[in-house]
Amino acid sequence: MKIIDKLMTYDLLITDSHVMTQNGMVEKNIVIDDGKIKLITNESPTCDKKINGSGLVSIPGVIDTHVHYGVYSPIDQAAITESHAAAIGGVTTMMRMFRLEGSYIDSLQKHLLASQKSHYIDYTLHASIFNENQISEMKHCTENQILSFKIYMNLGGDVGHVYMEMNPGEEKLISSQVNVTNELVEKIVKRASELKCPVLVHAEDYQECACAMKTEKEKNHDGLNSWSQSRSPDFEVKSIQTICEYGRKYDCTIYFVHIGSKSALDQIQLEKNNGTKIFVETCPHYLTLSHETQDGYLAKVMPPIRTKNDVEYVWQSLQKNHIDTIGTDHVANQLKLKLDGDDVWSALAGFPGIGTSLPILLSEGVNKNRITLDHLVNLTSTNASKIFGLSDKGNIAPGFDADITMIDLKKEKKVSPELFGGFSDYLVYDGWNLKGWPVKTIVRGSLITEDFEVVGKPGYGKLVTRKLS
Ligand SMILES: [Zn+2]
Repeated sequence: MKIIDKLMTYDLLITDSHVMTQNGMVEKNIVIDDGKIKLITNESPTCDKKINGSGLVSIPGVIDTHVHYGVYSPIDQAAITESHAAAIGGVTTMMRMFRLEGSYIDSLQKHLLASQKSHYIDYTLHASIFNENQISEMKHCTENQILSFKIYMNLGGDVGHVYMEMNPGEEKLISSQVNVTNELVEKIVKRASELKCPVLVHAEDYQECACAMKTEKEKNHDGLNSWSQSRSPDFEVKSIQTICEYGRKYDCTIYFVHIGSKSALDQIQLEKNNGTKIFVETCPHYLTLSHETQDGYLAKVMPPIRTKNDVEYVWQSLQKNHIDTIGTDHVANQLKLKLDGDDVWSALAGFPGIGTSLPILLSEGVNKNRITLDHLVNLTSTNASKIFGLSDKGNIAPGFDADITMIDLKKEKKVSPELFGGFSDYLVYDGWNLKGWPVKTIVRGSLITEDFEVVGKPGYGKLVTRKLS
């Protein structure tokens, strides 16, 4: 706020938009100052800048809970390209799924520093835990704003291969082999509980997956259907049972990432009824893609996309409030590496999706009356802010960060990789015509994108200060 001739002027006024608040939609102006929301009002106080929001809906900035970047291109570049794509897609905070082979104490700061001048939007990290030494460093992580830990139950034995974050300043893939045994998983859950942090769980039993994949390969099967066969929903169920047992034993909150099958959703409801504290994330692809209709290998992902019945069941689960958040599981990779081989087994798992998430939810969800706007806000922002302690975000109300995504529900546009300017040269949704798009992305009161152009600056985005209650 500046005081000019005794007149107070605020920084920014957003007029005439439909504002999504925790009490539903209101027709009011939003007054922003010093990056914070000051007032939701009928008045139009003097402001340095003004945005006419006529015909648009203002929602709390989208928080993408699940993003992989810095693995296939160095983080100083990846943070620029991927936060660019994110901003175009209306995302204001991206949560990086950070993977390290070695010590957090030795290299966390180096990694954070390398991305510090690169983000257009705000960001934070989940720390993946792969070994005993990293368990001993979980406290160190919490002292550095990382209040959530990722467990990969899918990695071990014959299927223990994983790419870690590139070393800052180097453009070299970091190939690694890990063994996330149940014994290790139990210790991580115990430690996370002591630190009062949730664990994010990739629930697929690696032993079952390794065995079934071997069988599928021996039969010379190919395609996304076989990929799904080789990683049956039953293997998700098995891991869900195991981790929930630990969750109850140590009173730890379990956050299931990328849930997209009926069996997994049903098992999770059972475990909730047994008293486990659980949150559930799904991804846009489990709401839109099935191996029954998807050709080629681009949509290869772990866990696999399933049947059309599963897709329908995920929508129903959303409607029943059995799902809390939408994360993209965005992987910033390129075709050259993705399709480095000639069958589904040699294709790389994971694909980009951070830019298309909100448009998909608006087009396939809100505009097809499958979810309401209020529900969308909870799924894309408010719930994530509560679960992960992003206490300044997730709400358009006085005192919160002025992270606002302005959407045009009537806007139609065709998806293409070029639209987002990310690292990836393909998208599984390439060519889809979607209705409902973000047209302005505002982070802490600054306009970052306007009509599909990024007008913000890399380095504006900050590491979010987190606080778990
Ligand atoms: Zn992931």
